[in-house]
Amino acid sequence: MSESSRDGYFIRFDSKQVTYPDICPVCSAPADATGWIYLYEYDADALIPTIRSLNPDKLRIPTCEDHAYTENEIANSKSLRAALLGMAIVIFLYFTIQSVLFLVQQIAIPLWLYFALVPVVVLLVAYHQLPPANELEEMMLIVDSGKGGTVTVRLKSENYAGEFLRLNPRAQRVSEEMVGAQHFG
Ligand SMILES: [Zn+2]
Repeated sequence: MSESSRDGYFIRFDSKQVTYPDICPVCSAPADATGWIYLYEYDADALIPTIRSLNPDKLRIPTCEDHAYTENEIANSKSLRAALLGMAIVIFLYFTIQSVLFLVQQIAIPLWLYFALVPVVVLLVAYHQLPPANELEEMMLIVDSGKGGTVTVRLKSENYAGEFLRLNPRAQRVSEEMVGAQHFG
């Protein structure tokens, strides 16, 4: 791992024949638990990435106790983020529609309407303050998962990526350009 990378290490491997390092991908502590990462199938050709499978496969990753996210924790975190963003969008749309209505009637936008933007800001700040869906996915992001179990991940930790390549001689390090740099949140 001579060449360092700011964005992480892109590694392609067969998820059915893989040996994960015995350390946590997030904190490098000895792994004594199991975390889960969903393997969604994305439609890469679509303009907006759409999930093809609603019953995704999962990767079981050895992690420490602290970073062993359960499926429920992952789902809750994702729905909380979606809810905050959704509310912000709804309130902003309300503000926009009301403003247009006032402008169409050639009435100045009343002051109270501007206060509708306060919760939008609060919601967006809360959204950004939330930790990523989980730290495990942040450190080990699935950037591509194809048919037949081939998976490409972005590993943030050089230590973990080196250990991963040592344990899996058939895994390939690929460049970000080859992956197409698709990031899904
Ligand atoms: Zn950990």
